[in-house]
Amino acid sequence: MHEASVVANIVDAVLEELNNYDVKKVNSVTLTIGDLTQLGTEQLEFAYEVLSQGNILEGSRLIIEPEHIVLKCKECGFQGPARMISMSESGDHDIPVLSCSECGGAVDVVEGQACRVKCMDVDTGDE
Ligand SMILES: [Zn+2]
Repeated sequence: MHEASVVANIVDAVLEELNNYDVKKVNSVTLTIGDLTQLGTEQLEFAYEVLSQGNILEGSRLIIEPEHIVLKCKECGFQGPARMISMSESGDHDIPVLSCSECGGAVDVVEGQACRVKCMDVDTGDE
């Protein structure tokens, strides 16, 4: 499961970061996850729940903020969301089209590849 290794890396990084502070309790960790990463929210939440057992993250909430895909065309300069090919009625498995929706030209991905910790809500010893 790809999500588990992603979350393992994130949990490691977060725990290391928290070592620098006098943290009593972690309330939540917010991640920014790009649509292009193809990481499933439910799988991420499940992996987080498992991997936070027995450390300071146990009981905290994982908040996932999606970053939608933004493409910029190298040909005509159009910038905007990717067209999606629908694979199911629910829209869960839509596949983005990585070409310009105006002229069909090659594009650069401006947004949508993020996979990072956006912020953490913690209680410190000072409060
Ligand atoms: Zn174009």
